[in-house]
Amino acid sequence: MRLRNVKGARDTIAASEYVAFDEDNMDPDQLKGKWKEKFGNNNPIRIEIGMGKGQFIMEMARRNPEINFVGIEKFSSVLVRGIEKQQVEQLPNLLFVRMDAENIEKVFDKNEVDYIFLNFSDPWPKDRHAKRRLTSVNFLNRYINILSETGGVTFKTDNRPLFDFSLEQVEEADWILDNYTFDLHHSEYVEGNIMTEYEKKFSEMGNPICRLVCHPKR
Ligand code: SAM
Repeated sequence: MRLRNVKGARDTIAASEYVAFDEDNMDPDQLKGKWKEKFGNNNPIRIEIGMGKGQFIMEMARRNPEINFVGIEKFSSVLVRGIEKQQVEQLPNLLFVRMDAENIEKVFDKNEVDYIFLNFSDPWPKDRHAKRRLTSVNFLNRYINILSETGGVTFKTDNRPLFDFSLEQVEEADWILDNYTFDLHHSEYVEGNIMTEYEKKFSEMGNPICRLVCHPKR
């Protein structure tokens, strides 16, 4: 994601009713364990970590009004683009969080998240940064602490080294790999696929899209 400093982004985030949490100026205890109250219903909650400008999570929310969605993004200047779209559309089942996902367990309680989507996560190509990859064992162990009994993770990327690493990490974490493909758009799993912003860009360049679906052992 190319980052430009967007003037007023922090003010927009602070003022938006669609931002449930901003780690710079809110106490996570206000929210942890209270997401159902926040949405005002008992519907399941699905999250995208690293939502970028929110194209995927907004389409998910449009198509699935009986499910609640939370888009999580580290950078204000990126998140603000999603907020601007949501201010216009006002989907009742979509909220945003601005935070680094390494703190995810501070914001969601055990069993509070029904499903996690990771789309085109940053590759962190240097070995010494491997722990920062959102599909590392480091992160998978965090996800166990927020996922429901039936919860799981879907990960999409065009980055083959990151995908291969992720397959290894699923095994190392002792999770169950439900299915995977190295070319989603030409596979049996393509039906119902919702394209992310990066997915559209990279698939138009001819890059095959890899996808894996996994869940913790129960
Ligand atoms: N998911 C979108 C898509 O597929 O179009 C955006 C992909 S973009 C390459 C990755 C996004 O993840 C960036 O906006 C980045 O700021 C965000 N991100 C990376 N690491 C993160 C973290 N630890 N916590 C929250 N967001 C993160």
